[in-house]
Amino acid sequence: MEQDGDTVMGEAGPHQSNPGASHAFPSSNPSRPAVPGTLKGGTDPWLAPLLLGNSMNLPLPVHQSGNPQATAPAAAHQPVGPASVVEKPAESSAAAPVVPAPTKRADSLVEETSDWSEEDLGARVGLPLASLPSGLCYDVQMRYHCEVRPTADVHPEDPRRIYYIYKELCRAGLVDDPESSRPLVARPLKRIHARNATEEEVSLVHTPDHFAFVESTKDMSDDELIALEHTRDSIYFNKLTFASALLSTGGAIETCLAVATRKVKNAIAVIRPPGHHAEHDKTMGFCLFNNVSVAARVCQKQLGESCRKILIVDWDVHHGNGIQKAFYDDPNVLYISLHVYQDGKYYPGGDEGDWDHCGAGAGLGRNVNIPWPSQGMGDGDYMYAFQQVVMPIAQEFNPDLVIVASGFDAAAGDELGGCFVTPPCYAHMTHMLMTLANGKVAVCLEGGYNFRSISKSALAVTKTLMGDPPDRLHSTLPSDLATSTVRRVMMIQSRYWRCMYPKGPQEEGLWTDRLHDVIRTYQSKQLYDNYKLTSLYIYRTSISKSFENQVLASSNYYQANPLIVIFHDPPEIMGLPHPVTNKLEAHNCWVADVMKDYIGWAVGKGYAVIDVNIPKHVTAEPATGKYEGEDENRPTATEELAGYLWDNYIEPNDATEIFLVGIGNAFYGVANLLINRDTLYKRINGVISFVAENPVRAIASHTQVWLSRWYKDNSLVYVSHTHGVWNNVESRRKPSKRYGHLIQSPKAGLSEMLMHHKNEVFKWIEDRADEAVTEEEEDARKGKSKSKSRSPTKEKPAGVPPGPS
Ligand SMILES: [Zn+2]
Repeated sequence: MEQDGDTVMGEAGPHQSNPGASHAFPSSNPSRPAVPGTLKGGTDPWLAPLLLGNSMNLPLPVHQSGNPQATAPAAAHQPVGPASVVEKPAESSAAAPVVPAPTKRADSLVEETSDWSEEDLGARVGLPLASLPSGLCYDVQMRYHCEVRPTADVHPEDPRRIYYIYKELCRAGLVDDPESSRPLVARPLKRIHARNATEEEVSLVHTPDHFAFVESTKDMSDDELIALEHTRDSIYFNKLTFASALLSTGGAIETCLAVATRKVKNAIAVIRPPGHHAEHDKTMGFCLFNNVSVAARVCQKQLGESCRKILIVDWDVHHGNGIQKAFYDDPNVLYISLHVYQDGKYYPGGDEGDWDHCGAGAGLGRNVNIPWPSQGMGDGDYMYAFQQVVMPIAQEFNPDLVIVASGFDAAAGDELGGCFVTPPCYAHMTHMLMTLANGKVAVCLEGGYNFRSISKSALAVTKTLMGDPPDRLHSTLPSDLATSTVRRVMMIQSRYWRCMYPKGPQEEGLWTDRLHDVIRTYQSKQLYDNYKLTSLYIYRTSISKSFENQVLASSNYYQANPLIVIFHDPPEIMGLPHPVTNKLEAHNCWVADVMKDYIGWAVGKGYAVIDVNIPKHVTAEPATGKYEGEDENRPTATEELAGYLWDNYIEPNDATEIFLVGIGNAFYGVANLLINRDTLYKRINGVISFVAENPVRAIASHTQVWLSRWYKDNSLVYVSHTHGVWNNVESRRKPSKRYGHLIQSPKAGLSEMLMHHKNEVFKWIEDRADEAVTEEEEDARKGKSKSKSRSPTKEKPAGVPPGPS
């Protein structure tokens, strides 16, 4: 029943000449009187294939002249079956007068002026778009570009790449070729003729000099070509390079045009040499002319408004620097690339593939880079990026055509790419993209160097284009690297795309106070009102700004015993954002401030307290509105502050019993203080630490080998039961004493742990404080002077090693 593959018009043939299909819709309905004259173009289901034919030939005039295409064929066809079509319009026009809306819907079979519902038409005309064939562009002549004198190491961009893909498609019975397995599928791939791109077309992206340069290679001698190769970045030439490159670009153009004008449903172009690295004035990375970019420009130019907005998705494992450059300031071409970046060290190198390259000028926000920090990315990572970034942004962009710069070098098995994307994952990505642009997806081959991987991947993509559902994915879990990368990309892109979460403050100057500072101000007021804690003056220009209001002390801090110094992270905040606006509303946010219980207890006991809040981000005001992670310099800044406090507020005063408490990453300050100040530990009575996610800090010193032992005997280190340190305990032996006296907490989060172990901590401190006091009393009784230099042995008699001997 399939007609020839030469023209889609052929699709219409059998339908039009086959009145038997009329059983698909009711021929009459007495309850609905005919309303002659209301029958508009397009209401006749028979016309559907014809409309397709028209729209594919002239996509432009359709919208501009009030749908002449719709009415003309309707008139022509009205006599065909008036009885069968009259009653439906009557229903619609009776229910609601039809107001033709001048929207453009080139692909819809239901005209805006139609009295028919989509549902009716769908039932009557079948699947006109789905039953179009998918296209395939392949030309054996593209294999002529090869190395002049192949060495033992075959170049990865091997001419056989496209041949193997083509063979795979034949083997699957998808291509009407004598070599194909039989039987063929019901509707084989419709061949798209690859022609030479013209100089004019290539010049839409490349400079005349560039074209002339590539052209000049056709007349060079082999030796000249080899010499030339060494002057260029990753490219080889032979006498037929120019011809192959023209054909490759022409193939991409014809493929995209065929898809954009609905000659085919969608298409794959199995072409080489690849193109996405080629820049306007240079060949690089196995690429000569930028196939996809030239094709996009030709479509825009030839098809005008019906193909104004083009999405280019580049899933080649390398960044498509050439495509990015070609459209960097173009608001109508959205370029989204997923690639291995490795901090600019992965080919093509440099920072252009980084996430903050978002386009420029009118094209700002139309460039989306998803730069993987390393190789080894897989299905879960690509799916996550597609679901979180690619598809939401693509849908918001709402393209007229989707072009995929389809390298298969991120495929499992490709040594160059080192990633693990499976054929089903390529199928799913294709499937998702097919929801865009009315299904107009043109896939153009770029890189990919493992014959087996590229063949299987291309087959999966092609079958999906042809209508097969994608195979199941085995792994859909994204890695931490992927989630953090994608989150960062979302943060950056949230400036340009409404669908991106979370949203940062937009208006400068409108959002002035960090919630962190608001909460600290509130905390300090509470601590003053309840316990008379006041701010300690921090006279250090480098830290004063960030630590202003962050150090609070009880009025007796310089004389009472013991002194408890608490270094803690800001209180944890839990919020439920509004599901639509993502706004955090005050009544849906909670602050967990367990520290106030600790302070209340200490003050109640008459102890001295210094409370140090370590902001997670030590930054200059005003807030930038960008997402800011925990500051890398925080441990250093914390240590600096701890040292400052020690020198100015702790060391000189009378307290002999000092307890240091460090919570979360704020413990860094405590740890470094102990390690770097030789005799400090002698005045410390005990150290308490709470660890949830951050590493457990070791306390050890090369110069004071007994420090670890002292730490082990004089500390309580509560570690979340989910922490990795416990894995080591199971697999090996006990953790080193350098990590202190580890206690596995049944709780996971810091706040929960603080709450859970509160009473243990209180008791431990009380006991030790009492012990110390008793010791002192004894000393006093024996007439000894008050000790200010507690040695490790004196600290805790039992089980403490002697000092260095
Ligand atoms: Zn590549």
